[in-house]
Amino acid sequence: NTFAEIDLGDALNLNIRRCKYVKPTPVQRHAIPISLAGRDLMACAQTGSGKTAAFCFPIISGIIKGNFPQRPRGVRTVFPLALILSPTRELSVQMRRNVDGCVAFKLQIHEEARKFSYQTGVRVVVAYGGAPINQQLRELERGVDILVATPGRLVDLLERAKVSLQMIRYLALDEADRMLDMGFEPQIRKIVEQMDMPPPGERQTMLFSATFPKEIQVKVRMASDFLSNYIF
Ligand code: AMP
Repeated sequence: NTFAEIDLGDALNLNIRRCKYVKPTPVQRHAIPISLAGRDLMACAQTGSGKTAAFCFPIISGIIKGNFPQRPRGVRTVFPLALILSPTRELSVQMRRNVDGCVAFKLQIHEEARKFSYQTGVRVVVAYGGAPINQQLRELERGVDILVATPGRLVDLLERAKVSLQMIRYLALDEADRMLDMGFEPQIRKIVEQMDMPPPGERQTMLFSATFPKEIQVKVRMASDFLSNYIF
């Protein structure tokens, strides 16, 4: 009934309280225990249902508590532990006017994930298309635990060998139906192919889609390839 009752860890629970979340929304109530139990998940959830927290909380909690192999350091390639793929900036980006009047774009997921991971040592970086890549590269070079990315920009980063997906332990596909509609399937396949095959159960995938009929389509086209033994 409350977040305090879910074993997400003290640091994350503190941030959840800071965000003034008390009760999980329905998608959170269903999805969080499933992913904390290590299972793959497919969920049908609209924007506004609280799905961002539904996939961010288990990822952040898992990274804080997790015992992961040491990642290479000091090389120009970064090795995130979690990848959140989101279809486009249009839907997920807020337009903001900075103090100096510049318009800044920010992925909403990134903003939320950063609030949830505040003072936990978990670092979140965002990379999306339609914006200069240099600033994103500089952020990446400072290290990344959770990468929030659009598929096209991520393929670009992979081709430049700036990012490696070999250590990915958590994959969240947000708005999977929209990503398919927008023709991102080849990029998503390319991305998933680059992930090392961890022993079964060591990489967890969460797939979220908004619409139910589309969900069936997503199920047929993606589930068998990207999810293993998942719970819907
Ligand atoms: P989302 O569906 O992830 O875009 O979330 C929609 C909005 O609900 C966002 O502004 C969240 O910050 C907020 N929200 C998500 N989960 C909760 C919760 N359990 N309690 C209160 N607000 C929430």
